[in-house]
Amino acid sequence: MPHTINTTCPVQPVIQALFGGTFDPIHYGHLHPIETLAHQTGLKRVILLPNHVPPHRPQPEATAQQRLTMVRLATQDHPLFTIDTRELERTTPSYTIDTLESFRHELGERQSLAFIIGQDSLLSLHTWHRWSELLNTCHLLVCARPGYQTQFATTEMQQWLTQHQIYDPALLNSKPNGYIYLADTPLLRISATDIRQRLQQGLNCDDLLPSLVQKYIDSQGLYRQ
Ligand code: ATP
Repeated sequence: MPHTINTTCPVQPVIQALFGGTFDPIHYGHLHPIETLAHQTGLKRVILLPNHVPPHRPQPEATAQQRLTMVRLATQDHPLFTIDTRELERTTPSYTIDTLESFRHELGERQSLAFIIGQDSLLSLHTWHRWSELLNTCHLLVCARPGYQTQFATTEMQQWLTQHQIYDPALLNSKPNGYIYLADTPLLRISATDIRQRLQQGLNCDDLLPSLVQKYIDSQGLYRQ
């Protein structure tokens, strides 16, 4: 789709927001904090990006197609969410910086672009491929996650955060990239790892993920061993 440039406004007013994950499976710990974040920051749409080959973690249990189907089922009736499959379609590792650069290329220099992560991901960001270039392409929106420190372990990273952190989300529209916003989102003690373990033990996960996803998991016999 062609990108329209508004010459009177330095930044396009609608923030494009991306949320990457393995989604093995997608759960309420992904969905609910993002809904709150969207409300707080005025996001109209969040693009979910299922990873294909996550570079810094073990391979998913479900296939790419199964994870994509679960993301579709979880979001099909929710207008906030859309899905982008570019990472799934790649055959090489899906480094976030590559994906962000491809979105930046499509959107042009003026569009505000945000990448959403959980607090755990923020704390390990310095291990990501070309992590220090991330803010050259996007803002970072961080959802709170229970069980993780609110501070970095090193002074260097804490200083990096302080340099870029904003407290007023309205600023996200004032430039296309470069800010970090720590959102006040609900603390949900849910992880895909825990869900997989619970399902393996035959435990109930009704409060942890959408029922359509649960039904699909059952029908595919996923996470049983
Ligand atoms: P796993 O347990 O397999 O590592 P996960 O539950 O952490 O998976 P991912 O798909 O790896 O889920 O996470 C994608 C993104 O969602 C990451 O940025 C992660 O920080 C964030 N996230 C996942 N669960 C939560 C949660 N309960 N609260 C806030 N953020 C979360």
